[in-house]
Amino acid sequence: MNNLYNTNKRVKIAIIGGGAAGMFAAVSAAMQKTPALLIERKARLGAKVLMTANGRCNFTKDISSEDFIRDVKYSADWITPAIRECPPREIIKFFRSLSIPLRRMSDGRMFPADGKAATIVHAFGDILRDKGLPVLTNCPVRGITPLRGGGFVVHTATFDIEADNVIIATGGASYPKTGSVGDGQNFARALGHEITALKPGLIGMETQERRVTALAGRRFEDGRAKVISPEGRVLFDYRGEVDCEKFGLSGGAIYNCQRYIEHEGLKNFTLEVWFAKERLKFENLRSRPLKEAIVTIGGVSLADVDSATMQSKKVPGLYFAGEVLDIDGPTGGYNLSLAFATASKAVSHIARGERQGSLNFAKRRGGHQKFQRM
Ligand SMILES: Cc1cc2nc3c(=O)[nH]c(=O)nc-3n(C[C@H](O)[C@H](O)[C@H](O)COP(=O)(O)OP(=O)(O)OC[C@H]3O[C@@H](n4cnc5c(N)ncnc54)[C@H](O)[C@@H]3O)c2cc1C
Repeated sequence: MNNLYNTNKRVKIAIIGGGAAGMFAAVSAAMQKTPALLIERKARLGAKVLMTANGRCNFTKDISSEDFIRDVKYSADWITPAIRECPPREIIKFFRSLSIPLRRMSDGRMFPADGKAATIVHAFGDILRDKGLPVLTNCPVRGITPLRGGGFVVHTATFDIEADNVIIATGGASYPKTGSVGDGQNFARALGHEITALKPGLIGMETQERRVTALAGRRFEDGRAKVISPEGRVLFDYRGEVDCEKFGLSGGAIYNCQRYIEHEGLKNFTLEVWFAKERLKFENLRSRPLKEAIVTIGGVSLADVDSATMQSKKVPGLYFAGEVLDIDGPTGGYNLSLAFATASKAVSHIARGERQGSLNFAKRRGGHQKFQRM
């Protein structure tokens, strides 16, 4: 038996959620020889990752940490330690080290060269298999109970698991069919964390304007959109794709304007949109619903999580990674990178703690305690 995963011991890290953050956390743990267990509610890992960039997976952007942090804008200070430790170029290096041919677009967006998100998900799966890191699929976690002496019991639908540390990597609350249904936010709330309002990010905006709906299905790759204040000031300006849909507008330029509008809480604004040579103005458009959003704005309050470690300030040993947190980025590979960087930060803190003994789990490691609920 692989003695890293001796079943008589409780596991060092239970990672809840096998999406971008959870898979990256599991791979990081495996590489640092820190015993971990990955628990995923769906039958397969990475359902949402498989959907990214229309199945092509824009996994990061080849830019400096400073530019990355500036572009994310909201939560910039908080994400800085994670991005500095795992910057876009480290992420690129990591995928190159797996011998995955990569493709760089002229604006720095990075994809697997074969244009298949499955290549990335399979690469994670292969490492976990080769390193022997256990993965539980079809295994929804129902709750987490902290133990009085430290550590946790993770309750799944069928059995309980003891762990020294738990990383909640259950994602946002959009595209619930992928398994991201907001469970992690509920676990966090039950354990005393504040959850900021969940709102749709990077999503289309609704209009019945005939000149748009009549063009449903048309893409304008050289589009542009501006958010303008009631006083006529340009608040946000983005050049990128504009798509016409039956419900209204979508595409990168619209998504990034919508993210700005949602973050700023704008109610009165004009959206000026360029379709090739034509320009139309729209007033106070509504976003499409959260369930269709590329990313969830809001989540576990950053005030309750230490940005240097991803550890909860309320419950020692509890960590968060990815979209479950109140972090989100624009289009262009930022959101997957945020998931990877926060996951890496959490695992490196736990692994370092074990080496340095600062988390002091040594005494408890041998024993299989009876649960003591807090
Ligand atoms: C259509 C679409 C396109 C996108 N394109 C891009 C792109 O090109 N580039 C980019 O950077 N980002 C993109 N994103 C955003 C990106 O996919 C997410 O930000 C990223 O996947 C978040 O990673 P995560 O691990 O936090 O959450 P997820 O990847 O959503 O993973 C969470 C996992 O946790 C599991 N889970 C949830 N609850 C439980 C539970 N109770 N027990 C066990 N498991 C549970 C879920 O089943 C899921 O597998 C896109 C998103 C969408 C929807």
